[in-house]
Amino acid sequence: MMEEPALMITCEHASNALPDFVLRTFRDCNTQEAIRRGEESCNIWGIPEDVLVSHRGYDIGAFKLFSNLVKRLKPDFNCSAIYSRLVVDMNRSPRNKTIFSEFTMHLPDNTKKRLLALWQKYRDKIEKFVSGKIPESLRTCDKEVPLKVIHLGIHSFTPVLNGNERDADVGILYDSKRPAEIKLAEILIKNIQEREPTLRIRRNYPYLGKADGLTTTLRNKYGSAYAGLEIEINQKLFE
Ligand SMILES: [Zn+2]
Repeated sequence: MMEEPALMITCEHASNALPDFVLRTFRDCNTQEAIRRGEESCNIWGIPEDVLVSHRGYDIGAFKLFSNLVKRLKPDFNCSAIYSRLVVDMNRSPRNKTIFSEFTMHLPDNTKKRLLALWQKYRDKIEKFVSGKIPESLRTCDKEVPLKVIHLGIHSFTPVLNGNERDADVGILYDSKRPAEIKLAEILIKNIQEREPTLRIRRNYPYLGKADGLTTTLRNKYGSAYAGLEIEINQKLFE
């Protein structure tokens, strides 16, 4: 009998926490700026609290859904980020300049180096699991390769962005050129629809599955033995 693919569930935008070394760097930068300006104090560095608690700081509700899925599906591997994407975004590749936010992109190089090390640590954990399941001989885009890893990335999106109301409750993101992902997306949509017929589910919405991110990186590295889908939930469902 063919071995079942392993299940991996991740949550890249689970948290809006900030690492202590980033808070210290913000403080130091503010102190230096105040000295430079000859003022008593300065508050230009930092992430405003209202931004941090908003959808920009993290994927509201996503960690709860992720934890429920981990409990119920008992995946072979799970992993969630512990810091806000506003410090470093675990769902961007290092070449992408949005890996840092407007609040961290101008921080001193040594701080950014530490942030990239956090990013690397997160990615290494995931890749250690995936590479253990997909031997090098299977890392091709050949259609005949057996599926070894199914990855579900759990995310959420804000109901209204820049004044536009998003027109779905659930988005299933995948690469529409990959047969295994198309098939898995169909199964997932059918299952959700059977349980909750009123939910509006859209494919590759509000983002395209093939955009820069963790699943795209893993697809490129591990080929057809890997299938990565992202589940995007409208945050109004968590209200
Ligand atoms: Zn997300």
